[in-house]
Amino acid sequence: MVIGILGGGQLARMIIEETGKFGFRYKILSDIQDSPAGQICSAQVIGRFTDYDALKKFADGCSIITLENEFIDKKYVEYLESLNIKVLPGSAVVGMIQDKLMQKNKLRDIGIPVPAFGMTETKEDIEKFARRFGYPLILKSRTMGYDGKGNFKIDNKDQIKEAFDTLKGRGKLLCEEFVDFTRELAVQAVKSTHGEIKIYPVVESIQKDHICNIVKVQKNFDKNLTGKINLIAEKVLNGINYTGVLGIELFELKNGDVIVNELAPRVHNTGHYTTEGCYVSQFENHIRAILGMPLGSVEMKHDAAVMINIIGDRNGKASPEGFDELLRDKNAFMHIYGKEETRKGRKMGHITVTGDELSAVLLKAKELHSKIKI
Ligand code: ADP
Repeated sequence: MVIGILGGGQLARMIIEETGKFGFRYKILSDIQDSPAGQICSAQVIGRFTDYDALKKFADGCSIITLENEFIDKKYVEYLESLNIKVLPGSAVVGMIQDKLMQKNKLRDIGIPVPAFGMTETKEDIEKFARRFGYPLILKSRTMGYDGKGNFKIDNKDQIKEAFDTLKGRGKLLCEEFVDFTRELAVQAVKSTHGEIKIYPVVESIQKDHICNIVKVQKNFDKNLTGKINLIAEKVLNGINYTGVLGIELFELKNGDVIVNELAPRVHNTGHYTTEGCYVSQFENHIRAILGMPLGSVEMKHDAAVMINIIGDRNGKASPEGFDELLRDKNAFMHIYGKEETRKGRKMGHITVTGDELSAVLLKAKELHSKIKI
């Protein structure tokens, strides 16, 4: 069985690491040599997602194809499907999610609460949106946004021109009300080809410079909130006809309500803790789901877990060090993605710490993380 993955980043690498034990072989399509997944994968095609020849070569011999990012234009996913290979999640859902405006329209249509939003083609559209919903607001690129790149917060009328001029080169735009959230929460929801659904515990994600930095999760998380979020997650999975692991990012509001910020049609950074924190990781359950295998338990093994990303703080050759203390601890785990070059803001690895009490686990994770250099 050869499973194709579009993309060769750390998410593909962790899928391969977690499920190689089932005896599957993997083939990736990556535009760079020596990608994190390419280093550990049995077959790869080096080429662009936009190159039909490369796509064809990649698809050749794959029993099924999945993806590790949403930046492949829908039409190329359709092309792979036209070769009679199952792609999961498929082109319809990927196409909808990769356009933030279509995604928000769909979520609203299926009854999921989202921030107020509006299509934006001109500077006047931004002014109109501001008259209705006030400042601050966020101008967003509809496609290809990640880690906050593609977002511009507008605090007053004077910033409209700068925001519009900065983002207009990135394609179509949308406006969103600025949500004064109390916490950013996230959940990984998974649905198999047989319709079996499992939802991982709700996590809190703490962002730094628009990048997910720390993820905290505990078994005894607010039951009421978990109930609300599980309902949302299930409604989304069914409403968009999804198969595989879906990352759902949410905002918690002051009045206790939750609204959806965005979806990711893939395994998600806020679910990296599941590798050691849960009985079956998001990576394994994603593959089980698309292959129609029974889903594994999403229950946590311990009462608490914390994941901290290892993010580059300089530009140059990567040289991971400072793991000795972590490696001596039976409840602490390191993941380095094998990227040759570190860069400011680049995700280079992560650590996960598990334990009985969240604040103690968080303290330990921060302490161990502070020793690490890359
Ligand atoms: P990306 O697709 O680049 O990950 P997001 O739209 O998720 O971008 O935004 C990145 C971060 O910006 C979010 O995690 C959140 O902190 C902040 N953000 C995004 N949308 C809003 C909003 N409407 N109101 C307040 N903050 C927001």
